[in-house]
Amino acid sequence: MRKTQIESFKKMLLAQKATLLEKVKNSVDMNKESSSDEVRDTADFASDYYERELAMGLSETERVRLQEVEDALERIDKGKYGKCEECGSQIAPQRLEALPFAKLCIECKAKEEKNGTSM
Ligand SMILES: [Zn+2]
Repeated sequence: MRKTQIESFKKMLLAQKATLLEKVKNSVDMNKESSSDEVRDTADFASDYYERELAMGLSETERVRLQEVEDALERIDKGKYGKCEECGSQIAPQRLEALPFAKLCIECKAKEEKNGTSM
């Protein structure tokens, strides 16, 4: 993949990351105002996982997305971006344009979904 192409995917990823982080900031501010006592009462029962979710103020989907975006940025830094993690082949640029954080090529993704192990 050309460097300019990677740069443009990187910009897309950074923009998505910024949007997600902005959401976190907003909802954390809201949580501070309203529900801290309530949360403390149930803290004994809540798992770390649940607490962290509250703290981050993101839905499951958004958290997964943020992680995927960060992983993709890491792959750019390591020079591995755009390669399928499963079979090592080049992920189609059209696929990356739609999903810049994609880590599987379309064939492996389809296989994964058939096996029912996908997220
Ligand atoms: Zn693949």
